[in-house]
Amino acid sequence: METLAESHRETNTSAAAPAQTASQADARHVLHPWADLSGLGEQTSLIISQAKGVRVRDSAGKTYLDAIGGMWCMTLGYGREELAEAMADQARRMAYYTPFGDLSSEPAARLAERLSQLAPGDLNRVHFTTCGSTAVESAIRIAHYHFAAQGKPAKRHVLSRINAYHGGTYLTQSLSGKDADRTLFQYEADFVHHLSSPGHDPDRSNVSAAEKLQTLLEEMETEILRIGADNIACFIAEPILASGGVLTPPEGYQKATFEMCRKHDILYISDEVVTGFGRLGHFFASEARFGIQPDMIITAKGLTSGYQPLGAVMISDRITDALAKAAPKDKPVFSNGFTYSGHPVACAVALANIEIMEQEDICGHVRDVGPYFIERLRELRDNPIVYTVRGDHLMACVECWTGQDAGPNAANMALAQKVDAYCQDAGLLVRPYENLCIMSPPLIIDRTDIDRIVATLSDALAKAQADLA
Ligand code: PLP
Repeated sequence: METLAESHRETNTSAAAPAQTASQADARHVLHPWADLSGLGEQTSLIISQAKGVRVRDSAGKTYLDAIGGMWCMTLGYGREELAEAMADQARRMAYYTPFGDLSSEPAARLAERLSQLAPGDLNRVHFTTCGSTAVESAIRIAHYHFAAQGKPAKRHVLSRINAYHGGTYLTQSLSGKDADRTLFQYEADFVHHLSSPGHDPDRSNVSAAEKLQTLLEEMETEILRIGADNIACFIAEPILASGGVLTPPEGYQKATFEMCRKHDILYISDEVVTGFGRLGHFFASEARFGIQPDMIITAKGLTSGYQPLGAVMISDRITDALAKAAPKDKPVFSNGFTYSGHPVACAVALANIEIMEQEDICGHVRDVGPYFIERLRELRDNPIVYTVRGDHLMACVECWTGQDAGPNAANMALAQKVDAYCQDAGLLVRPYENLCIMSPPLIIDRTDIDRIVATLSDALAKAQADLA
């Protein structure tokens, strides 16, 4: 008689039979994040199977220079033995234990201590999560808890910005302000408000930075007065908007918005998932670059150099002390967190990551090569299909246009896709988004590879331009 296992095998074999290569299995069975649904089942994905330094190799053996750095996260580059060893060592010693309540692990405790040393001001408390989105969600919940505990539960509205990106969960997508992502899903609109996109591109703007700043601040104050400061818990902001198109606010914006938040007793949450951990040449850009000490800072991605998923909310003593004092006596539990919050293997690799970053002065390296990267990319503005090039240190983008109307219209988006395809043919990965080619290379990139990125992009732009003619 057939055993249960045999009958199972038969059923499973027939169900799985059509998949032959990883690429086919992927096309048949995976629903990718941010996938183009019109190509579902037909589109084949590029399967990346090996990687070293700033280069990755696909399953067919073709090598690419990875100018995306995975997804803004692969900061120390691929194949770092020390990071692999830190993970293996921790996995052998103790792969997992719960962080709930009064249980902890040594890597999580040590990492929290290190992060407090690196973070500005009194941000001495760390609430670990599993990724950037869960860290942002947690920060908003902390802001709500903070005011509710003070007897101000009406202070729950959140200010965000158009073009912001804060994650892929229900609330973080609601906070995000990227029009292209707003489709048939539902979004929280009751307590989330979007201010104008703060990006200011001096090359392509007909207003000065000072005028733009004033307009943004006036709008923010008007919105605060309209909603009522007594109803607003927090303002969340990426210091430079990353996925929304590498948008840099006018000089002084971060400080002025921070001061406005202070004036109205609104908590300031700085989302440094991209700008932190070296991408702008500092562990945290909020204070080092923009002169502010937020109430909370979100970090993820480069925290582990992308080797493990991990997120964290850095919280000021001012907030945590208030939470502890105000927690209801009969219900003192801080009910937020995840099974894998501060996973020991992820924390172990984050600790090793910080050690390498300090030993190799990665932030100093970024401060050295970052301006060169931007300067070289800006040479591409000579090509007529380049509308603008913008960026800061190792986050940048090239915006394409046909020369007619600027912006993410169909013609400009098709052009950027062509540029992306030509780059890929030539062994360079950039990230196509609307009519942009976005770049965030590993922080270890050197001038020679920066020159290669620029040369390949330049050829790709020339080919896409020739196709237009
Ligand atoms: N915040 C910012 C600024 C991000 O760029 C991202 C992801 O790209 C997130 C939050 C969400 O992080 P994760 O994808 O790790 O959930």
